[in-house]
Amino acid sequence: MIAAAPVRPATTNTCRVCAPLGAVLAFRGLRGCVPLVHGSQGCATYIRRYLISHFREPMDVASTSFTESSTVFGGKSNLATAVTNLRDQYAPEVVGLCTTCLAETIGEDTRGLIRDLAAADPTLPRLIHVATPSFKGCQHKGFHDTVEAILRQVAEGGERLRQVNVLAGPVSPADLRHLREVLAAIGLPAILFPDYSETLDGPSLARYEPIPAGGIGLDELARAGRSACTIQFGDTLEPGPGAVLEQLHGVPLVRLGLPIGVQASDAAFAALADAAGAALPESLAAERGRLVDAYVDGHKYVARRRVAVVGDPDLAVALAAFAAEIGMIPVLVASGAATGRMAQALALRGVAGAEVLEDADHDSIGARLAALKPDLVLGPSKSYPATRSLSIPLVRVGFPVHDRIGAGRILHLGYRGTQRLFDEVVNTLLGHAQDLSETGYAYL
Ligand code: SF4
Repeated sequence: MIAAAPVRPATTNTCRVCAPLGAVLAFRGLRGCVPLVHGSQGCATYIRRYLISHFREPMDVASTSFTESSTVFGGKSNLATAVTNLRDQYAPEVVGLCTTCLAETIGEDTRGLIRDLAAADPTLPRLIHVATPSFKGCQHKGFHDTVEAILRQVAEGGERLRQVNVLAGPVSPADLRHLREVLAAIGLPAILFPDYSETLDGPSLARYEPIPAGGIGLDELARAGRSACTIQFGDTLEPGPGAVLEQLHGVPLVRLGLPIGVQASDAAFAALADAAGAALPESLAAERGRLVDAYVDGHKYVARRRVAVVGDPDLAVALAAFAAEIGMIPVLVASGAATGRMAQALALRGVAGAEVLEDADHDSIGARLAALKPDLVLGPSKSYPATRSLSIPLVRVGFPVHDRIGAGRILHLGYRGTQRLFDEVVNTLLGHAQDLSETGYAYL
């Protein structure tokens, strides 16, 4: 069954954040990059606050600080001042410029301004621009539009190389580190982009580094147009940022769902092994074996339990498919994004019967949770008020997770990420049953 989000006079407890936030996240996967938000200070502050509370890392996000006059006459001089200040204070390799609703609403010719700036002062850092009006989409769209803009502006064609591009989407730093580990084990050179595995989950340093180490360099990314193929994760992407490499440089695009669950991980790792012309390493086979064994051990605790999933559309679809794979019944799959493709993506993953809610806020999701009464919710911290009031246990996944620490270290992907998730799902259900029990069994 598919339900449209109910018509409501206003969004209450939003389930989406703004498109420039997705852009900033993607820019943090580029080496030596400082994100610059073209618009008012408040937008950059909001983005910083959200990202810091999730990743718990320093988050320098510059702003062109629009005032009343720049709102009327345009932000040309603000942009010039901001880029000059960034050059002098940060010495970045690249400035990632994304626009706010305000800059887009006044029709700012940001691309033209950048062209004029670069022509007038060759000492300025390279500027990469993406238009991210939030009235056209949320962080999910902002992220993928930024990945596409970067690839469009940086990748170059040429002789084919034995390497692949992997576009993993807005996953966690732990997920990115795991993918790098898998690629190394398979022996496949890869451009994993964006890679914020170090920039957003780095070590404690004696001295503050304004631009954290890590990320993919422009020189490396330039070779993305010469890869054997692009493997892109995301069921609802149509066609997604990897298509630009196919259009411009003839790099074939392989589209897969996020590798959560045995079947989805099998498909993803088989695609990587195919690209490498190699067999899967023993270490992955062992992880798979342990995961299947855990499914056998834990199936009696999860079978036929009803679950609701809330999150970014690709993550929500992948989690619902995982839940169905372990014998749970997905009853609600909800997202603040409005892709119009979640129902179809779920059907392609073999998930039937779940209510699909796109463009939803947490109030409307809470109302459906109250009506459907699932046994468990998989979702971000924003799902906590509703699940608390309904006494439904919550397994925190996705973004944002800002009522726990370690969000950057939540592993969702591959056999190993699925193992962690499966254990947490089972243990959360067991813990909840124990909490409600008058007997207090210690043996379950
Ligand atoms: S005005 Fe637009 S860009 Fe700024 S914080 Fe709000 S949604 Fe984001």
